[in-house]
Amino acid sequence: MKLAIEGGTPSRSAPLPPNYPGAVMMGTEEEESVSRIIRAHSPFRYYGPAMQNAVQRLEDAMSGELGIPYVLGVSSCTAALIVALKALGIGYGDKVIVPANTFMATAGAVVCSHAVPVFADVDDSLNVDPGDLERVYDEEVKAIIVVPILGNPCDMDAIMAFARERGLPVIEDVAQSCGVRYKGQYAGTIGDIGTFSFQMNKIITAGEGGAVVTRNPAAFERAVRYHDQGLFRQKDRYGLGSDEEENAMVGQNYRMSELAGAVLLEQWNKLDAINARTRASHDAIQRVLKEKAPGLRYRKVADPDGYIGSNLGMILPDGEAAARFVAALEAENIGTHLLYGGKPVYRNPQIYHQRTAEKDNFPFNYPFRRPVSYKDQPCPRAEDLMARTVYLPVSPLLTERDLEEIAEGIVKVYSGLRI
Ligand SMILES: *Cc1c(COP(=O)(O)O)cnc(C)c1O
Repeated sequence: MKLAIEGGTPSRSAPLPPNYPGAVMMGTEEEESVSRIIRAHSPFRYYGPAMQNAVQRLEDAMSGELGIPYVLGVSSCTAALIVALKALGIGYGDKVIVPANTFMATAGAVVCSHAVPVFADVDDSLNVDPGDLERVYDEEVKAIIVVPILGNPCDMDAIMAFARERGLPVIEDVAQSCGVRYKGQYAGTIGDIGTFSFQMNKIITAGEGGAVVTRNPAAFERAVRYHDQGLFRQKDRYGLGSDEEENAMVGQNYRMSELAGAVLLEQWNKLDAINARTRASHDAIQRVLKEKAPGLRYRKVADPDGYIGSNLGMILPDGEAAARFVAALEAENIGTHLLYGGKPVYRNPQIYHQRTAEKDNFPFNYPFRRPVSYKDQPCPRAEDLMARTVYLPVSPLLTERDLEEIAEGIVKVYSGLRI
């Protein structure tokens, strides 16, 4: 069959539906929930004329389902990461290990917490390679952040073993992977602190929003204080809370609004259905590809029972083949993409050049015993794999017909291009 990019008939007559899983599933439930807040004139979580406690109910629902005692709703995952780092006492003079394949926010939050990121390479899972942690580790490293990219769990056993041996806390940035599991446990609840995003591009959303989860009561108290100007309200709710004179520290305002909380309560109820749907669609497409495009390779999966199937990651032989693949699929009305332009996070100019809004580019100016530079291509496998891993977004709205057209279109392009 002639490829659409060479003038043939496209596999699909129209582009794929937009891939905003939570947003496209919004409906009367969210509308009703948020309307209750407005009718109650009480959009703030800590006081109001007729409080609805939406954020608190979201925190309780997450706590129950995730099986973790402490959950704090915040304004974004960037805020959640900063809160997590501050809860662990990370700051100026510290290094934090960050995977080379992640969104700018993971590295940015480290810098905004006044620490400096050092980047570990990825393996064929496109998540951090636990075997590369040792290379970037030194005694100035005070924490590890891991990021399950686009719905695939990290190899947590190996990561936790490395961290525990050196007494390092682990933060799981599960912004892209709400509902992912590893060996039966939810991603975000395996390390010391987990951070979630509810921004528009993530699995469930209120446009903006985030959460911090932990089992550690002392870290939780510091997290609550840092997100709310140093205050620890609701001491009775948690049966926690130390003396103000002893423990209050200057913080931020990273609070979640009741409007976001009300939307997210309903989105949280839809999470299982969204993930079940995308997982089934992902697997249906992949079954056809494995049979009809047997040469095509995929991301390695740390736990075949744990991924959510929000994206299908296909690894092409090289960057040039990946670019041709994406362009030919686009012509078939099958939108795919490289993540972050196919470049490791340290290639972003603000990180690469170590530029901040502070004097002397604080905190990059810290005199580390082993200086940090990002200029000598520290992560060759991320450079290579990110430039040739093509992601197909899997929307919860895809129909049987869509799945057939997508699978056939990919087979057609893969064989037609003779990659
Ligand atoms: C989106 C994202 C963030 C930032 O989330 P916000 O809620 O937009 O602040 C952090 N880390 C990763 C891996 C992300 O994908």
